[in-house]
Amino acid sequence: MRNVKPLWSRYGLPAGVALGALDMWCQTLFRKTPFGTLSHDKPDWASLKPLEEVMPITYPTPDHVLTFDRLSSVFLSGTTHAENQPCHLKLADPTVPLRRNLPLYGEPARLYCPAGVYEITKSPDGSDSFTINSQNCVHCKTCDIKDPEQNITWTPPEGGGGPIYAGM
Ligand code: SF4
Repeated sequence: MRNVKPLWSRYGLPAGVALGALDMWCQTLFRKTPFGTLSHDKPDWASLKPLEEVMPITYPTPDHVLTFDRLSSVFLSGTTHAENQPCHLKLADPTVPLRRNLPLYGEPARLYCPAGVYEITKSPDGSDSFTINSQNCVHCKTCDIKDPEQNITWTPPEGGGGPIYAGM
Protein backbone atom coordinates (compact mmCIF):
# COMPACT_ATOMS: atom_id res chain seq x y z
CA MET A 1 0.00 0.00 0.00
CA ARG A 2 2.90 2.38 0.62
CA ASN A 3 3.07 3.76 -2.93
CA VAL A 4 -0.65 4.44 -3.31
CA LYS A 5 -0.82 7.86 -1.67
CA PRO A 6 2.39 9.16 -3.28
CA LEU A 7 1.05 8.03 -6.71
CA TRP A 8 -2.33 9.60 -5.96
CA SER A 9 -0.70 12.92 -4.95
CA ARG A 10 1.52 12.99 -8.04
CA TYR A 11 -0.92 11.93 -10.75
CA GLY A 12 -4.36 12.83 -9.39
CA LEU A 13 -7.19 10.55 -8.34
CA PRO A 14 -8.07 8.45 -11.46
CA ALA A 15 -4.51 7.92 -12.75
CA GLY A 16 -3.03 7.67 -9.25
CA VAL A 17 -5.48 4.98 -8.13
CA ALA A 18 -5.01 3.04 -11.40
CA LEU A 19 -1.22 3.17 -11.00
CA GLY A 20 -1.62 2.24 -7.32
CA ALA A 21 -3.59 -0.85 -8.36
CA LEU A 22 -0.87 -1.76 -10.88
CA ASP A 23 1.76 -1.26 -8.18
CA MET A 24 -0.05 -3.50 -5.69
CA TRP A 25 -0.67 -6.26 -8.27
CA CYS A 26 3.02 -6.21 -9.24
CA GLN A 27 3.98 -6.45 -5.54
CA THR A 28 1.57 -9.36 -5.06
CA LEU A 29 2.47 -11.33 -8.20
CA PHE A 30 6.17 -10.58 -8.70
CA ARG A 31 7.32 -9.26 -5.27
CA LYS A 32 8.65 -6.15 -7.03
CA THR A 33 7.24 -3.09 -8.71
CA PRO A 34 8.46 -0.73 -11.44
CA PHE A 35 7.90 2.21 -9.08
CA GLY A 36 10.31 1.05 -6.36
CA THR A 37 9.56 2.80 -3.08
CA LEU A 38 8.11 6.25 -3.60
CA SER A 39 8.31 8.96 -1.00
CA HIS A 40 6.01 11.87 -0.33
CA ASP A 41 7.29 15.12 -1.78
CA LYS A 42 6.96 17.00 1.52
CA PRO A 43 6.56 16.18 5.21
CA ASP A 44 3.07 15.92 6.66
CA TRP A 45 3.34 19.16 8.65
CA ALA A 46 4.19 21.11 5.48
CA SER A 47 0.96 20.04 3.79
CA LEU A 48 -1.35 21.92 6.15
CA LYS A 49 -3.36 24.59 4.32
CA PRO A 50 -3.97 28.03 5.80
CA LEU A 51 -7.46 29.04 6.92
CA GLU A 52 -8.27 31.07 3.82
CA GLU A 53 -7.85 27.99 1.59
CA VAL A 54 -10.20 25.68 3.48
CA MET A 55 -13.87 25.41 4.43
CA PRO A 56 -14.74 24.69 8.06
CA ILE A 57 -16.21 21.23 8.67
CA THR A 58 -19.32 21.17 10.85
CA TYR A 59 -19.73 17.79 12.51
CA PRO A 60 -23.13 16.60 13.76
CA THR A 61 -23.62 16.54 17.53
CA PRO A 62 -22.68 13.08 18.91
CA ASP A 63 -25.73 10.92 19.59
CA HIS A 64 -23.93 8.78 22.22
CA VAL A 65 -25.24 5.66 20.48
CA LEU A 66 -23.05 5.40 17.40
CA THR A 67 -21.05 8.62 17.70
CA PHE A 68 -19.34 10.03 20.76
CA ASP A 69 -17.60 13.20 21.85
CA ARG A 70 -13.87 13.18 22.30
CA LEU A 71 -13.75 13.30 26.07
CA SER A 72 -16.13 10.31 26.40
CA SER A 73 -13.76 8.35 24.19
CA VAL A 74 -10.75 9.46 26.23
CA PHE A 75 -12.55 8.13 29.33
CA LEU A 76 -13.05 4.75 27.61
CA SER A 77 -9.34 4.61 26.78
CA GLY A 78 -8.58 4.38 30.51
CA THR A 79 -5.97 7.13 30.22
CA THR A 80 -4.36 8.08 33.52
CA HIS A 81 -1.36 10.21 34.39
CA ALA A 82 0.05 11.26 37.74
CA GLU A 83 -1.47 14.67 38.37
CA ASN A 84 1.66 16.41 39.64
CA GLN A 85 4.06 15.38 36.87
CA PRO A 86 5.57 17.98 34.51
CA CYS A 87 3.79 18.45 31.18
CA HIS A 88 5.19 15.87 28.76
CA LEU A 89 4.17 17.94 25.69
CA LYS A 90 6.94 20.49 25.21
CA LEU A 91 6.58 23.73 23.26
CA ALA A 92 9.83 25.03 21.78
CA ASP A 93 8.28 28.51 21.70
CA PRO A 94 5.17 28.97 23.87
CA THR A 95 4.10 32.04 21.87
CA VAL A 96 3.70 30.14 18.57
CA PRO A 97 0.16 28.76 19.16
CA LEU A 98 -1.45 32.18 19.65
CA ARG A 99 0.97 34.36 17.69
CA ARG A 100 1.21 32.27 14.53
CA ASN A 101 -0.90 29.09 14.49
CA LEU A 102 -4.17 30.70 15.62
CA PRO A 103 -4.38 33.50 13.03
CA LEU A 104 -2.88 31.43 10.19
CA TYR A 105 -4.41 27.98 10.76
CA GLY A 106 -7.08 28.46 13.44
CA GLU A 107 -4.71 26.63 15.83
CA PRO A 108 -4.97 23.14 14.32
CA ALA A 109 -3.85 21.27 17.46
CA ARG A 110 -7.30 21.80 19.02
CA LEU A 111 -8.80 20.09 15.94
CA TYR A 112 -6.46 17.19 15.13
CA CYS A 113 -5.72 16.04 18.67
CA PRO A 114 -8.08 13.10 19.23
CA ALA A 115 -8.11 13.63 23.00
CA GLY A 116 -8.97 17.33 23.23
CA VAL A 117 -5.63 18.07 24.88
CA TYR A 118 -5.18 21.50 23.29
CA GLU A 119 -7.74 24.23 23.87
CA ILE A 120 -8.14 27.89 23.01
CA THR A 121 -10.05 29.58 25.80
CA LYS A 122 -11.07 33.17 26.43
CA SER A 123 -9.54 34.89 29.43
CA PRO A 124 -11.74 37.20 31.54
CA ASP A 125 -10.18 40.20 29.76
CA GLY A 126 -11.31 38.81 26.36
CA SER A 127 -7.86 37.69 25.20
CA ASP A 128 -7.21 34.17 23.92
CA SER A 129 -5.21 31.70 25.94
CA PHE A 130 -3.72 28.35 24.92
CA THR A 131 -4.22 25.47 27.35
CA ILE A 132 -2.59 22.02 27.33
CA ASN A 133 -4.60 19.34 29.17
CA SER A 134 -1.74 16.87 29.11
CA GLN A 135 -3.53 14.44 31.46
CA ASN A 136 -5.88 13.52 28.59
CA CYS A 137 -3.10 12.59 26.13
CA VAL A 138 -3.49 9.17 24.50
CA HIS A 139 0.08 9.29 23.11
CA CYS A 140 -0.68 9.12 19.40
CA LYS A 141 2.10 11.68 18.63
CA THR A 142 -0.02 13.43 16.01
CA CYS A 143 0.87 16.84 17.47
CA ASP A 144 4.59 16.08 17.20
CA ILE A 145 4.19 15.12 13.53
CA LYS A 146 1.52 17.57 12.36
CA ASP A 147 2.23 20.91 14.04
CA PRO A 148 2.92 23.27 11.10
CA GLU A 149 5.70 25.07 12.99
CA GLN A 150 7.18 21.84 14.40
CA ASN A 151 6.87 23.53 17.77
CA ILE A 152 5.49 20.58 19.79
CA THR A 153 7.61 17.69 21.02
CA TRP A 154 5.94 14.67 22.60
CA THR A 155 8.07 13.13 25.36
CA PRO A 156 7.32 10.01 27.41
CA PRO A 157 5.30 10.87 30.52
CA GLU A 158 6.56 9.99 33.96
CA GLY A 159 5.39 6.80 35.64
CA GLY A 160 4.19 4.85 32.61
CA GLY A 161 0.89 6.73 32.44
CA GLY A 162 -1.29 6.69 29.36
CA PRO A 163 -4.14 4.78 27.76
CA ILE A 164 -4.93 1.19 28.80
CA TYR A 165 -7.67 0.19 26.32
CA ALA A 166 -8.82 -2.67 28.54
CA GLY A 167 -11.48 -3.82 26.07
CA MET A 168 -9.18 -4.26 23.09
S1 SF4 B 1 0.16 12.84 21.37
FE1 SF4 B 1 -1.89 12.69 20.39
S2 SF4 B 1 -3.31 12.67 22.12
FE2 SF4 B 1 -1.37 13.42 22.92
S3 SF4 B 1 -1.51 15.63 22.77
FE3 SF4 B 1 -0.52 14.93 20.90
S4 SF4 B 1 -2.19 14.71 19.42
FE4 SF4 B 1 -3.14 14.80 21.46
